[in-house]
Amino acid sequence: STALGTPTLEDTYAQAVPDLVVPWAAAPVRDPQVVVLDEELAAELGLDPETLRTSGLLVGRVPEGVRTVAQAYSGHQFGMFQPRLGDGRAVLLGEIVAPDGTRHDLHLKGSGRTPFARGGDGKAALGPMLREYAMGAAMHALGVPTSRGLAVSTTGEKVDRDGGALPGAILARVASSHLRVGTFQYAAAHEEPTPVRALADHAIARHYPHAADADEPYLELYRCVVDAQASLVAQWLLVGFVHGVMNTDNTTISGETIDYGPCAFIDGYDPTTVFSSIDHAGRYAFGHQPMIARWNLARLGECLLPLIDADSDTAIEKATTVVQSFTQSYDGYFADGMAAKIGLAEPDYQLIADLLALLGTEKTDWTTFFRALSQGTARDLFLDREAFDSWAARRDALTDPAAVAAMDRVNPVYIPRNHLVDEALTAAEAGDLAPFHELLDVVRRPFDERPGLERWTEPGTGPFVTYCGT
Ligand code: AMP
Ligand code: MG
Ligand code: MG
Repeated sequence: STALGTPTLEDTYAQAVPDLVVPWAAAPVRDPQVVVLDEELAAELGLDPETLRTSGLLVGRVPEGVRTVAQAYSGHQFGMFQPRLGDGRAVLLGEIVAPDGTRHDLHLKGSGRTPFARGGDGKAALGPMLREYAMGAAMHALGVPTSRGLAVSTTGEKVDRDGGALPGAILARVASSHLRVGTFQYAAAHEEPTPVRALADHAIARHYPHAADADEPYLELYRCVVDAQASLVAQWLLVGFVHGVMNTDNTTISGETIDYGPCAFIDGYDPTTVFSSIDHAGRYAFGHQPMIARWNLARLGECLLPLIDADSDTAIEKATTVVQSFTQSYDGYFADGMAAKIGLAEPDYQLIADLLALLGTEKTDWTTFFRALSQGTARDLFLDREAFDSWAARRDALTDPAAVAAMDRVNPVYIPRNHLVDEALTAAEAGDLAPFHELLDVVRRPFDERPGLERWTEPGTGPFVTYCGT
Protein backbone atom coordinates (compact mmCIF):
# COMPACT_ATOMS: atom_id res chain seq x y z
CA SER A 1 0.00 0.00 0.00
CA THR A 2 1.11 3.55 -0.60
CA ALA A 3 0.87 6.35 1.93
CA LEU A 4 -1.47 8.07 -0.50
CA GLY A 5 -4.32 5.78 0.47
CA THR A 6 -4.44 4.13 -2.92
CA PRO A 7 -3.77 0.60 -1.87
CA THR A 8 -2.17 -2.09 -3.93
CA LEU A 9 -5.08 -4.38 -4.70
CA GLU A 10 -3.94 -7.97 -5.12
CA ASP A 11 -5.99 -10.73 -6.71
CA THR A 12 -4.64 -14.03 -5.38
CA TYR A 13 -8.20 -15.37 -5.13
CA ALA A 14 -9.11 -14.62 -8.74
CA GLN A 15 -5.82 -16.17 -9.85
CA ALA A 16 -6.24 -19.28 -7.72
CA VAL A 17 -9.82 -20.06 -8.79
CA PRO A 18 -10.62 -18.23 -12.06
CA ASP A 19 -13.69 -20.46 -12.55
CA LEU A 20 -15.21 -18.97 -9.39
CA VAL A 21 -15.13 -15.31 -10.40
CA VAL A 22 -16.53 -13.12 -13.14
CA PRO A 23 -14.52 -9.99 -13.96
CA TRP A 24 -16.90 -7.20 -13.09
CA ALA A 25 -16.73 -3.50 -12.26
CA ALA A 26 -18.82 -1.48 -9.84
CA ALA A 27 -21.37 0.73 -11.56
CA PRO A 28 -20.23 4.37 -11.80
CA VAL A 29 -21.67 6.57 -9.04
CA ARG A 30 -22.57 10.12 -9.96
CA ASP A 31 -22.64 11.78 -6.56
CA PRO A 32 -20.86 9.72 -3.90
CA GLN A 33 -20.76 11.12 -0.36
CA VAL A 34 -18.92 9.34 2.42
CA VAL A 35 -21.33 9.10 5.36
CA VAL A 36 -19.13 7.20 7.81
CA LEU A 37 -15.54 6.01 7.63
CA ASP A 38 -13.77 3.85 10.23
CA GLU A 39 -10.47 5.68 10.55
CA GLU A 40 -9.09 3.15 13.00
CA LEU A 41 -9.68 0.34 10.51
CA ALA A 42 -8.20 2.45 7.72
CA ALA A 43 -5.07 2.90 9.84
CA GLU A 44 -4.86 -0.84 10.52
CA LEU A 45 -4.94 -1.38 6.77
CA GLY A 46 -2.27 1.27 6.22
CA LEU A 47 -4.67 3.55 4.34
CA ASP A 48 -4.91 7.30 4.65
CA PRO A 49 -8.46 8.34 5.60
CA GLU A 50 -8.36 11.65 3.72
CA THR A 51 -7.31 10.01 0.49
CA LEU A 52 -9.96 7.33 0.98
CA ARG A 53 -12.58 10.04 1.31
CA THR A 54 -11.70 11.62 -2.02
CA SER A 55 -10.27 8.88 -4.23
CA GLY A 56 -13.57 7.22 -5.11
CA LEU A 57 -12.18 3.83 -4.08
CA LEU A 58 -14.96 3.41 -1.51
CA VAL A 59 -17.54 3.35 -4.31
CA GLY A 60 -15.45 1.29 -6.73
CA ARG A 61 -13.14 3.63 -8.62
CA VAL A 62 -9.97 1.56 -8.73
CA PRO A 63 -6.52 2.31 -10.11
CA GLU A 64 -5.89 1.55 -13.78
CA GLY A 65 -5.25 -2.13 -14.42
CA VAL A 66 -7.00 -3.47 -11.31
CA ARG A 67 -9.42 -6.24 -12.27
CA THR A 68 -12.32 -6.35 -9.82
CA VAL A 69 -14.59 -9.40 -9.73
CA ALA A 70 -17.96 -10.74 -8.66
CA GLN A 71 -17.59 -14.01 -6.77
CA ALA A 72 -19.66 -17.09 -7.56
CA TYR A 73 -21.18 -19.19 -4.81
CA SER A 74 -24.10 -21.48 -4.14
CA GLY A 75 -25.93 -21.92 -0.90
CA HIS A 76 -28.66 -23.53 1.10
CA GLN A 77 -31.13 -20.73 1.79
CA PHE A 78 -33.42 -21.77 4.64
CA GLY A 79 -32.47 -25.36 3.82
CA MET A 80 -33.13 -25.16 0.06
CA PHE A 81 -30.14 -25.55 -2.25
CA GLN A 82 -29.67 -22.69 -4.72
CA PRO A 83 -26.92 -23.59 -7.20
CA ARG A 84 -26.23 -20.05 -8.38
CA LEU A 85 -26.24 -17.22 -5.87
CA GLY A 86 -22.99 -15.28 -6.04
CA ASP A 87 -22.35 -11.58 -5.54
CA GLY A 88 -25.55 -10.17 -7.02
CA ARG A 89 -24.83 -6.61 -5.94
CA ALA A 90 -21.27 -6.79 -4.74
CA VAL A 91 -17.75 -6.73 -6.12
CA LEU A 92 -14.44 -7.76 -4.68
CA LEU A 93 -12.10 -4.82 -5.30
CA GLY A 94 -9.13 -6.90 -4.26
CA GLU A 95 -6.95 -7.94 -1.36
CA ILE A 96 -4.95 -5.53 0.77
CA VAL A 97 -1.90 -6.65 2.71
CA ALA A 98 -1.86 -4.54 5.88
CA PRO A 99 1.35 -3.21 7.44
CA ASP A 100 1.20 -6.09 9.93
CA GLY A 101 1.30 -8.57 7.04
CA THR A 102 -2.31 -9.74 7.29
CA ARG A 103 -4.37 -10.07 4.10
CA HIS A 104 -7.87 -8.58 3.86
CA ASP A 105 -10.55 -8.50 1.19
CA LEU A 106 -11.90 -5.08 0.30
CA HIS A 107 -15.40 -5.63 -0.95
CA LEU A 108 -18.31 -3.41 -1.95
CA LYS A 109 -21.98 -4.12 -1.37
CA GLY A 110 -24.67 -2.19 -3.24
CA SER A 111 -22.40 -1.44 -6.21
CA GLY A 112 -24.78 -2.40 -9.01
CA ARG A 113 -26.15 -5.49 -10.74
CA THR A 114 -23.79 -8.31 -11.65
CA PRO A 115 -24.35 -11.50 -13.67
CA PHE A 116 -25.52 -13.08 -10.37
CA ALA A 117 -28.19 -10.46 -9.68
CA ARG A 118 -31.18 -12.56 -10.82
CA GLY A 119 -34.21 -10.33 -10.19
CA GLY A 120 -32.42 -7.91 -7.88
CA ASP A 121 -31.64 -4.28 -8.64
CA GLY A 122 -28.03 -4.55 -7.50
CA LYS A 123 -28.49 -1.72 -5.05
CA ALA A 124 -28.59 -1.24 -1.32
CA ALA A 125 -30.44 1.21 0.89
CA LEU A 126 -28.67 3.40 3.43
CA GLY A 127 -30.36 1.94 6.55
CA PRO A 128 -29.30 -1.69 6.02
CA MET A 129 -25.74 -0.68 5.08
CA LEU A 130 -25.46 1.42 8.22
CA ARG A 131 -26.86 -1.51 10.20
CA GLU A 132 -24.12 -3.77 8.84
CA TYR A 133 -21.49 -1.11 9.58
CA ALA A 134 -22.67 -0.62 13.19
CA MET A 135 -23.12 -4.31 13.93
CA GLY A 136 -19.65 -5.13 12.61
CA ALA A 137 -18.18 -2.35 14.75
CA ALA A 138 -20.07 -3.63 17.79
CA MET A 139 -18.99 -7.23 17.29
CA HIS A 140 -15.39 -6.17 16.76
CA ALA A 141 -15.44 -4.16 19.99
CA LEU A 142 -16.93 -7.16 21.79
CA GLY A 143 -14.02 -9.28 20.56
CA VAL A 144 -16.11 -11.46 18.23
CA PRO A 145 -14.45 -12.33 14.89
CA THR A 146 -16.19 -10.35 12.18
CA SER A 147 -16.07 -8.61 8.84
CA ARG A 148 -16.00 -4.85 9.37
CA GLY A 149 -17.40 -1.87 7.60
CA LEU A 150 -14.68 0.47 6.36
CA ALA A 151 -17.16 3.05 5.10
CA VAL A 152 -20.69 3.70 3.98
CA SER A 153 -21.27 6.17 1.14
CA THR A 154 -24.51 7.41 -0.29
CA THR A 155 -24.82 7.25 -4.07
CA GLY A 156 -27.17 10.20 -4.58
CA GLU A 157 -29.70 7.80 -6.13
CA LYS A 158 -32.92 6.49 -4.65
CA VAL A 159 -33.63 2.78 -4.41
CA ASP A 160 -37.10 1.27 -4.47
CA ARG A 161 -37.98 -0.88 -1.49
CA ASP A 162 -41.31 -1.93 0.05
CA GLY A 163 -41.21 1.18 2.17
CA GLY A 164 -40.89 3.48 -0.87
CA ALA A 165 -37.90 5.28 -2.31
CA LEU A 166 -34.92 5.17 0.04
CA PRO A 167 -31.46 6.75 -0.19
CA GLY A 168 -29.07 4.41 -1.99
CA ALA A 169 -25.74 3.49 -0.41
CA ILE A 170 -22.62 1.40 -0.81
CA LEU A 171 -20.89 -0.39 2.02
CA ALA A 172 -17.14 -0.92 1.72
CA ARG A 173 -16.39 -3.93 3.86
CA VAL A 174 -13.24 -5.65 4.98
CA ALA A 175 -13.01 -9.35 5.77
CA SER A 176 -10.14 -11.79 6.11
CA SER A 177 -11.75 -13.39 3.04
CA HIS A 178 -15.14 -13.98 1.49
CA LEU A 179 -14.72 -17.75 1.27
CA ARG A 180 -18.01 -19.29 2.27
CA VAL A 181 -19.34 -22.81 2.69
CA GLY A 182 -21.41 -21.83 -0.35
CA THR A 183 -18.22 -21.16 -2.33
CA PHE A 184 -17.22 -24.79 -1.81
CA GLN A 185 -20.72 -25.90 -2.76
CA TYR A 186 -20.46 -23.97 -6.02
CA ALA A 187 -16.99 -25.39 -6.72
CA ALA A 188 -18.08 -28.94 -5.95
CA ALA A 189 -21.03 -28.69 -8.33
CA HIS A 190 -18.82 -27.29 -11.12
CA GLU A 191 -18.19 -29.52 -14.11
CA GLU A 192 -15.12 -31.76 -13.98
CA PRO A 193 -12.39 -31.02 -13.20
CA THR A 194 -13.89 -29.13 -10.29
CA PRO A 195 -11.92 -26.29 -8.70
CA VAL A 196 -12.49 -27.69 -5.19
CA ARG A 197 -8.86 -28.65 -4.66
CA ALA A 198 -7.59 -25.24 -5.81
CA LEU A 199 -10.17 -23.56 -3.58
CA ALA A 200 -9.21 -25.72 -0.60
CA ASP A 201 -5.51 -25.01 -1.20
CA HIS A 202 -6.26 -21.29 -1.30
CA ALA A 203 -8.28 -21.56 1.94
CA ILE A 204 -5.43 -23.42 3.64
CA ALA A 205 -2.79 -20.93 2.50
CA ARG A 206 -4.92 -18.03 3.56
CA HIS A 207 -6.47 -19.13 6.83
CA TYR A 208 -4.93 -22.34 8.14
CA PRO A 209 -1.41 -22.56 6.70
CA HIS A 210 -0.31 -25.21 9.19
CA ALA A 211 -2.81 -27.63 7.58
CA ALA A 212 -0.56 -27.81 4.51
CA ASP A 213 1.95 -29.78 6.58
CA ALA A 214 -0.59 -32.11 8.17
CA ASP A 215 -0.73 -35.80 7.18
CA GLU A 216 -4.20 -35.16 5.79
CA PRO A 217 -4.30 -31.46 4.83
CA TYR A 218 -7.94 -31.35 3.67
CA LEU A 219 -9.23 -33.20 6.70
CA GLU A 220 -7.22 -30.78 8.81
CA LEU A 221 -8.75 -27.85 6.91
CA TYR A 222 -12.19 -29.26 7.69
CA ARG A 223 -11.28 -29.66 11.38
CA CYS A 224 -10.09 -26.06 11.50
CA VAL A 225 -13.28 -24.66 9.96
CA VAL A 226 -15.47 -26.75 12.27
CA ASP A 227 -13.50 -25.54 15.26
CA ALA A 228 -13.53 -21.89 14.13
CA GLN A 229 -17.29 -21.96 13.60
CA ALA A 230 -17.88 -23.71 16.95
CA SER A 231 -15.92 -20.96 18.63
CA LEU A 232 -17.68 -18.22 16.66
CA VAL A 233 -21.21 -19.40 17.32
CA ALA A 234 -20.41 -19.87 21.02
CA GLN A 235 -19.31 -16.23 21.07
CA TRP A 236 -22.55 -15.19 19.37
CA LEU A 237 -24.59 -16.86 22.08
CA LEU A 238 -22.41 -15.47 24.85
CA VAL A 239 -23.09 -11.89 23.71
CA GLY A 240 -26.72 -12.58 22.79
CA PHE A 241 -26.37 -12.18 19.02
CA VAL A 242 -28.87 -13.58 16.52
CA HIS A 243 -27.45 -13.67 13.00
CA GLY A 244 -30.82 -14.10 11.37
CA VAL A 245 -29.80 -15.64 8.02
CA MET A 246 -27.45 -18.54 8.68
CA ASN A 247 -27.58 -19.82 5.13
CA THR A 248 -24.51 -21.77 3.98
CA ASP A 249 -23.50 -18.81 1.81
CA ASN A 250 -23.33 -16.68 4.94
CA THR A 251 -21.10 -19.16 6.79
CA THR A 252 -17.42 -18.33 6.40
CA ILE A 253 -14.38 -20.57 6.13
CA SER A 254 -12.39 -18.07 8.21
CA GLY A 255 -14.75 -18.23 11.18
CA GLU A 256 -15.68 -14.57 10.94
CA THR A 257 -19.22 -13.27 11.19
CA ILE A 258 -20.38 -12.11 7.79
CA ASP A 259 -23.45 -10.63 6.13
CA TYR A 260 -25.40 -8.67 8.70
CA GLY A 261 -28.98 -8.60 7.48
CA PRO A 262 -31.92 -8.98 9.85
CA CYS A 263 -29.64 -9.57 12.81
CA ALA A 264 -30.05 -8.31 16.36
CA PHE A 265 -29.05 -8.73 19.99
CA ILE A 266 -31.55 -10.28 22.36
CA ASP A 267 -32.83 -8.34 25.32
CA GLY A 268 -34.55 -10.93 27.55
CA TYR A 269 -33.08 -14.43 27.41
CA ASP A 270 -35.27 -16.66 25.26
CA PRO A 271 -33.73 -19.27 22.95
CA THR A 272 -36.73 -19.08 20.61
CA THR A 273 -36.09 -15.41 19.81
CA VAL A 274 -36.37 -14.57 16.11
CA PHE A 275 -36.01 -11.05 14.73
CA SER A 276 -36.06 -11.63 11.01
CA SER A 277 -39.34 -10.86 9.33
CA ILE A 278 -38.63 -13.57 6.73
CA ASP A 279 -37.80 -16.36 9.20
CA HIS A 280 -41.36 -17.57 9.68
CA ALA A 281 -40.45 -21.04 10.96
CA GLY A 282 -37.80 -19.80 13.38
CA ARG A 283 -35.13 -21.90 11.66
CA TYR A 284 -32.49 -19.34 12.65
CA ALA A 285 -33.79 -18.59 16.16
CA PHE A 286 -31.21 -17.59 18.76
CA GLY A 287 -30.95 -21.03 20.36
CA HIS A 288 -30.91 -22.93 17.06
CA GLN A 289 -27.68 -21.35 15.90
CA PRO A 290 -25.24 -24.06 17.08
CA MET A 291 -27.33 -26.79 15.46
CA ILE A 292 -27.60 -24.82 12.22
CA ALA A 293 -23.86 -24.15 12.13
CA ARG A 294 -23.26 -27.85 12.46
CA TRP A 295 -25.71 -28.56 9.64
CA ASN A 296 -23.94 -26.01 7.44
CA LEU A 297 -20.58 -27.58 8.25
CA ALA A 298 -21.90 -30.99 7.21
CA ARG A 299 -22.58 -29.41 3.79
CA LEU A 300 -18.94 -28.27 3.68
CA GLY A 301 -17.81 -31.78 4.56
CA GLU A 302 -19.75 -33.17 1.60
CA CYS A 303 -17.81 -30.88 -0.74
CA LEU A 304 -14.46 -31.98 0.68
CA LEU A 305 -15.11 -35.75 0.58
CA PRO A 306 -13.18 -36.42 -2.66
CA LEU A 307 -10.16 -34.62 -1.19
CA ILE A 308 -10.37 -36.35 2.17
CA ASP A 309 -10.02 -39.90 0.87
CA ALA A 310 -10.09 -41.66 -2.49
CA ASP A 311 -12.32 -44.31 -0.95
CA SER A 312 -15.70 -42.70 -0.44
CA ASP A 313 -16.74 -44.81 2.58
CA THR A 314 -13.50 -43.92 4.34
CA ALA A 315 -13.93 -40.26 3.43
CA ILE A 316 -17.46 -40.22 4.86
CA GLU A 317 -16.28 -41.89 8.04
CA LYS A 318 -13.48 -39.36 8.54
CA ALA A 319 -15.64 -36.34 7.73
CA THR A 320 -18.42 -37.57 10.00
CA THR A 321 -16.04 -37.83 12.93
CA VAL A 322 -14.99 -34.23 12.35
CA VAL A 323 -18.48 -32.78 12.02
CA GLN A 324 -19.59 -34.69 15.09
CA SER A 325 -16.77 -33.03 17.03
CA PHE A 326 -18.58 -29.73 16.56
CA THR A 327 -20.93 -30.38 19.45
CA GLN A 328 -18.21 -31.07 21.98
CA SER A 329 -16.11 -28.13 20.77
CA TYR A 330 -19.09 -25.81 20.88
CA ASP A 331 -20.11 -26.99 24.36
CA GLY A 332 -16.56 -26.43 25.59
CA TYR A 333 -16.29 -22.93 24.14
CA PHE A 334 -19.70 -21.96 25.46
CA ALA A 335 -19.07 -23.37 28.93
CA ASP A 336 -15.66 -21.68 29.16
CA GLY A 337 -17.26 -18.40 28.11
CA MET A 338 -20.10 -18.75 30.59
CA ALA A 339 -17.65 -19.60 33.37
CA ALA A 340 -15.84 -16.33 32.65
CA LYS A 341 -19.14 -14.44 32.57
CA ILE A 342 -20.26 -15.71 35.96
CA GLY A 343 -16.84 -15.58 37.60
CA LEU A 344 -15.94 -19.25 37.91
CA ALA A 345 -12.40 -20.52 37.62
CA GLU A 346 -13.68 -23.70 35.94
CA PRO A 347 -16.86 -24.37 33.96
CA ASP A 348 -19.64 -26.04 35.92
CA TYR A 349 -22.00 -27.45 33.30
CA GLN A 350 -24.91 -28.08 35.65
CA LEU A 351 -24.73 -24.64 37.23
CA ILE A 352 -24.68 -23.07 33.75
CA ALA A 353 -27.63 -25.14 32.55
CA ASP A 354 -29.59 -24.19 35.66
CA LEU A 355 -28.79 -20.51 35.14
CA LEU A 356 -30.09 -20.67 31.57
CA ALA A 357 -33.28 -22.28 32.83
CA LEU A 358 -33.64 -19.58 35.47
CA LEU A 359 -33.07 -16.73 33.00
CA GLY A 360 -35.41 -18.38 30.49
CA THR A 361 -38.26 -18.62 32.99
CA GLU A 362 -38.40 -14.88 33.53
CA LYS A 363 -36.79 -13.81 30.26
CA THR A 364 -34.29 -11.83 32.28
CA ASP A 365 -32.33 -9.28 30.30
CA TRP A 366 -29.23 -11.17 29.15
CA THR A 367 -26.79 -8.27 29.14
CA THR A 368 -28.04 -6.63 32.36
CA PHE A 369 -27.90 -9.87 34.32
CA PHE A 370 -24.16 -10.49 34.10
CA ARG A 371 -23.16 -6.97 35.09
CA ALA A 372 -25.65 -7.08 37.95
CA LEU A 373 -24.11 -10.36 39.05
CA SER A 374 -20.68 -8.80 39.46
CA GLN A 375 -22.24 -5.79 41.21
CA GLY A 376 -24.14 -8.03 43.64
CA THR A 377 -27.53 -6.71 42.46
CA ALA A 378 -28.67 -9.59 40.25
CA ARG A 379 -31.23 -10.78 42.81
CA ASP A 380 -33.30 -7.63 42.23
CA LEU A 381 -33.85 -8.59 38.60
CA PHE A 382 -35.98 -11.61 39.49
CA LEU A 383 -39.60 -11.96 40.49
CA ASP A 384 -38.77 -15.32 42.05
CA ARG A 385 -35.89 -14.22 44.24
CA GLU A 386 -35.71 -17.52 46.08
CA ALA A 387 -35.04 -19.31 42.81
CA PHE A 388 -32.17 -16.95 42.18
CA ASP A 389 -30.90 -17.32 45.76
CA SER A 390 -30.76 -21.08 45.57
CA TRP A 391 -28.85 -20.88 42.28
CA ALA A 392 -26.50 -18.21 43.64
CA ALA A 393 -25.79 -20.25 46.76
CA ARG A 394 -24.34 -22.98 44.54
CA ARG A 395 -22.11 -20.56 42.66
CA ASP A 396 -18.61 -21.05 43.95
CA ALA A 397 -17.45 -17.75 42.54
CA LEU A 398 -14.24 -15.86 42.80
CA THR A 399 -15.05 -12.70 44.77
CA ASP A 400 -11.81 -10.73 44.96
CA PRO A 401 -11.82 -7.36 43.15
CA ALA A 402 -9.60 -8.70 40.38
CA ALA A 403 -12.09 -11.48 39.65
CA VAL A 404 -14.99 -9.02 39.60
CA ALA A 405 -13.04 -6.76 37.23
CA ALA A 406 -12.34 -9.78 35.02
CA MET A 407 -16.09 -10.48 34.79
CA ASP A 408 -16.71 -6.89 33.77
CA ARG A 409 -14.17 -7.25 30.98
CA VAL A 410 -16.18 -10.04 29.33
CA ASN A 411 -19.68 -8.79 30.15
CA PRO A 412 -20.61 -5.69 28.15
CA VAL A 413 -22.68 -2.88 29.65
CA TYR A 414 -23.77 -1.79 26.19
CA ILE A 415 -24.92 -3.73 23.16
CA PRO A 416 -26.60 -2.34 20.04
CA ARG A 417 -30.10 -2.77 21.41
CA ASN A 418 -32.44 -3.48 18.54
CA HIS A 419 -34.99 -0.77 19.24
CA LEU A 420 -32.25 1.85 19.45
CA VAL A 421 -30.57 0.58 16.30
CA ASP A 422 -33.88 0.93 14.49
CA GLU A 423 -34.33 4.42 15.92
CA ALA A 424 -30.85 5.45 14.72
CA LEU A 425 -31.38 4.00 11.23
CA THR A 426 -34.77 5.63 10.82
CA ALA A 427 -33.26 8.99 11.76
CA ALA A 428 -30.31 8.43 9.40
CA GLU A 429 -32.59 7.67 6.47
CA ALA A 430 -34.40 10.93 7.24
CA GLY A 431 -31.09 12.80 7.15
CA ASP A 432 -30.25 13.01 10.88
CA LEU A 433 -27.02 11.13 11.59
CA ALA A 434 -26.67 12.21 15.24
CA PRO A 435 -28.36 9.12 16.74
CA PHE A 436 -26.26 6.87 14.49
CA HIS A 437 -23.04 8.50 15.69
CA GLU A 438 -24.22 8.01 19.27
CA LEU A 439 -24.86 4.34 18.47
CA LEU A 440 -21.32 3.95 17.11
CA ASP A 441 -19.83 5.73 20.10
CA VAL A 442 -21.71 3.48 22.53
CA VAL A 443 -21.00 0.14 20.86
CA ARG A 444 -17.31 0.87 20.28
CA ARG A 445 -16.70 1.00 24.06
CA PRO A 446 -19.04 -1.68 25.33
CA PHE A 447 -17.36 -2.53 28.62
CA ASP A 448 -16.88 0.90 30.25
CA GLU A 449 -19.92 2.21 32.04
CA ARG A 450 -20.39 5.89 31.20
CA PRO A 451 -22.83 8.50 32.55
CA GLY A 452 -25.66 9.64 30.32
CA LEU A 453 -26.08 6.32 28.51
CA GLU A 454 -28.70 4.78 30.79
CA ARG A 455 -31.21 4.26 28.02
CA TRP A 456 -28.70 1.96 26.30
CA THR A 457 -29.02 -0.49 29.19
CA GLU A 458 -32.82 -0.73 29.00
CA PRO A 459 -34.50 -3.49 27.02
CA GLY A 460 -36.93 -2.56 24.27
CA THR A 461 -40.61 -3.17 24.68
CA GLY A 462 -41.13 -5.01 21.37
CA PRO A 463 -42.53 -6.24 19.08
CA PHE A 464 -39.10 -7.58 18.27
CA VAL A 465 -39.07 -7.63 14.52
CA THR A 466 -36.16 -6.56 12.37
CA TYR A 467 -37.21 -5.74 8.88
CA CYS A 468 -35.45 -7.93 6.38
CA GLY A 469 -34.02 -4.77 4.93
CA THR A 470 -31.67 -4.83 1.98
P1 AMP B 1 -28.22 -12.50 1.42
O1 AMP B 1 -29.56 -12.98 1.86
O2 AMP B 1 -27.93 -11.10 1.78
O3 AMP B 1 -27.13 -13.42 1.87
O4 AMP B 1 -28.20 -12.51 -0.18
C1 AMP B 1 -28.56 -13.64 -0.91
C2 AMP B 1 -28.29 -13.44 -2.36
O5 AMP B 1 -29.11 -12.42 -2.92
C3 AMP B 1 -26.88 -13.06 -2.72
O6 AMP B 1 -26.56 -13.74 -3.91
C4 AMP B 1 -26.97 -11.58 -2.92
O7 AMP B 1 -25.93 -11.09 -3.77
C5 AMP B 1 -28.32 -11.45 -3.61
N1 AMP B 1 -28.95 -10.13 -3.47
C6 AMP B 1 -29.51 -9.60 -2.36
N2 AMP B 1 -30.03 -8.39 -2.61
C7 AMP B 1 -29.80 -8.12 -3.93
C8 AMP B 1 -30.10 -7.02 -4.80
N3 AMP B 1 -30.75 -5.94 -4.37
N4 AMP B 1 -29.70 -7.12 -6.08
C9 AMP B 1 -29.04 -8.20 -6.54
N5 AMP B 1 -28.75 -9.26 -5.77
C10 AMP B 1 -29.12 -9.23 -4.48
MG1 MG C 1 -25.17 -13.28 1.88
MG1 MG D 1 -27.34 -9.95 2.99
